Amino acid sequence: MSVFPSIRLGSTGHYVRLLQADLNGLALNYNGFALDGHFDQKTSDAVKNFQDRFSLNRDGIVRNSTWKVLVDNVLAVQRLLKQNGYHAGYADGWFGATTTAAVIAFQKAHGLYPSGIVDPRTRQALFHPHDKDHYQNRPTSASLDSLNPHVAAMARRFLELTRANHMDVRIYTAFRSWDDEDRLFAQGRWTPGPIVTNARGGDSYHNWGLAFDAAPFENGAMTTDVSKFRLMGQLGKQVGLQWGGDFKSIVDYPHFQHTFGLNTWDLLDGVRPPGE
Ligand SMILES: [Zn+2]
Repeated sequence: MSVFPSIRLGSTGHYVRLLQADLNGLALNYNGFALDGHFDQKTSDAVKNFQDRFSLNRDGIVRNSTWKVLVDNVLAVQRLLKQNGYHAGYADGWFGATTTAAVIAFQKAHGLYPSGIVDPRTRQALFHPHDKDHYQNRPTSASLDSLNPHVAAMARRFLELTRANHMDVRIYTAFRSWDDEDRLFAQGRWTPGPIVTNARGGDSYHNWGLAFDAAPFENGAMTTDVSKFRLMGQLGKQVGLQWGGDFKSIVDYPHFQHTFGLNTWDLLDGVRPPGE
């Protein structure tokens, strides 16, 4: 890769258009920034989410480290499309019109919604075409049995710890179906209500049995007391879980996860955590 310039909030021009095309093509344009070569706040937010995903410094500045990971991801998509016989143009790391057209052709041939962006289902069909464990077809469940066994064991230790602290904590979602995740993603975008997630089906740890949502109850009803959620979060962290109350993009007090250092693209690509 040649050396690209560092760009940031306020930058304009050719490389901002390249950045926006790549983020959009990789299905990371959650907030609908315009592909107009203006590095605005929405573009900056998308960059930060991308940096989070790859454990890069979350500063919103696109310098060599971020460029490399981004361009490598687009190159991987272009090469796979090509290997599958789709005309994706020269593999140049630019998610342009030719690559978009190839993605649409691939999606149509695989019964996927022809958005032209590599959404999680498209990613899985492209990167892990012979999926055997069918996570995308599992139903939503509140049962710990729907979780990865290691995560389920952590959840049980967490619940014991909450009881020892005289809290009535209940888990209300463990595995979440990909269809339900898509419905949540739609909320605030093309259905009513506030935006609650940036994850499409397949892009949440809930869709892989690596996350659950819990809440403290008082007198049989879920509490609205944020301090109780904070206490619950501290107890979850004591057993080694990541707590959504610490998230930067969308703070999520009921959410706990354990990722084994995998991001959801690893999972879509076919990498599996221990115990599976
Ligand atoms: Zn959650």
